[in-house]
Amino acid sequence: MTSPVVRPEPVTDRLNRPIHDLRISITDRCNFRCVYCMPKEKFGRDYSFLSRKELLSFEEIERVCRAFADIGVKKLRITGGEPLLRTDMHDLVARLANIPGIDDLSMTTNASLIKPERARALRDAGLTRVNVSLDSLNDDDFIRINDVGCTVKRVLDGIDVLVASGFDPIKVNMVVRRGLNETSILPMARHFHGSGVILRFIEYMDVGTTNQWQLSDVYSAKDIVETINTEMPLEPLDPNYTGEVARRWRYVDGGGEIGIISSVTQPFCRNCSRARLSAVGKLYTCLFAEDGFDLRALLRSGCDDDDFRESVAGLWRRREDRYSELRNRIDVPHKVEMSHIGG
Ligand code: SAM
Ligand code: SF4
Ligand code: SF4
Repeated sequence: MTSPVVRPEPVTDRLNRPIHDLRISITDRCNFRCVYCMPKEKFGRDYSFLSRKELLSFEEIERVCRAFADIGVKKLRITGGEPLLRTDMHDLVARLANIPGIDDLSMTTNASLIKPERARALRDAGLTRVNVSLDSLNDDDFIRINDVGCTVKRVLDGIDVLVASGFDPIKVNMVVRRGLNETSILPMARHFHGSGVILRFIEYMDVGTTNQWQLSDVYSAKDIVETINTEMPLEPLDPNYTGEVARRWRYVDGGGEIGIISSVTQPFCRNCSRARLSAVGKLYTCLFAEDGFDLRALLRSGCDDDDFRESVAGLWRRREDRYSELRNRIDVPHKVEMSHIGG
């Protein structure tokens, strides 16, 4: 029996950071094999993905999210793997949209599986925003990156469908890896300039271990801004809120704004208010953690909602992660893979 919720004070961690944001990975599977995320050498035909029964059920995910909303979470993001591989995702959206305290419910997707009826179903169920990942406008480069032959047009069509379904504004995320796609920065900026879509550039990060990340692969935020600024002058914008991950810039000519996520060269750990739930129900308090806390076991142990909420609050209170600030000084040999915790 669920007892009435007395909303406790927002919970803060050991570095006095509140929790605002929970990312939920609903599958470890993906129809892409992006070379920096799920390289085919590791995620090949014989890779054993999670079975359905290992995944949290939507009911369990809802229960986790309710507990997090009680301790301060306001934003939920559904991700993966590729979340649209779960054809019943709108059922989860409907459950999460009704949680008191949640004012933002979004999804990150590669947009290759979007169809008008699905987009509408997600919108009707209560999804408020969508971020689409797209790393180049050049088909040769994009296919080299996704490694499964998906064309740029398919993703751009997906973005059009999302816009037509009322998702506004759409954000497009482009990971920039030196030697892979930095020549796509300007074409992407030109394409989305004035379109209403907010383009965000993400520094290539050392998430997981399979992508063989090296510091020399990082194309820095500073270089990204300079690349665009030479052709389309930019000026900085104030953050929308404390702890916003992307640094905002706007085109001086009024062509809209862009964002840059510089977790490597300008870490933002001191404002990091984000937790991540993997598809098997492990809770990670940092993107670069080796392991998470097994919430699935706790959920299935029969503990009641009050105890569950207290356990979750305790995990956050004990948190002291700041990997990006310490990157050069610590070694984390077995970091969790991005496709498990969803970026
Ligand atoms: N499949 C969905 C997609 O690609 O949008 C959602 C999951 S994907 C793991 C989430 C985001 O993480 C994508 O925007 C992807 O580009 C980004 N990402 C994956 N590996 C990364 C890395 N090593 N560094 C920076 N971003 C990365
Ligand atoms: Fe799949 Fe997204 Fe990873 Fe690409 S970045 S392999 S689309 S999970
Ligand atoms: Fe947050 Fe960890 Fe990234 Fe720092 S390194 S911003 S603590 S997820």
